[in-house]
Amino acid sequence: MKNSQPIRMCIACRSKQPQNTLVRFKHEGKLIVASNGFGRSFYLCQHCMENEKKVKGLIKRFGQEKAYFMALMTEMTTTSTYAMNRI
Ligand SMILES: [Zn+2]
Repeated sequence: MKNSQPIRMCIACRSKQPQNTLVRFKHEGKLIVASNGFGRSFYLCQHCMENEKKVKGLIKRFGQEKAYFMALMTEMTTTSTYAMNRI
């Protein structure tokens, strides 16, 4: 196993993990969106994205609309980032 991955911190549980196991988001105005590599971003781990309590905490913390944010979490846990790590 290579150990050259940069380490990033999940903002929800504060655990430090290899960047490729975390999902990157950013603020776009007041909205949280998937990061495209530009602007200020933050990371969430798969575990937190699937943890309802943590997700609800984030919704409060960032003042997001619940339905929107839940859908974003679901979308991001099932997209390429996750799939890539499983190959
Ligand atoms: Zn986490």
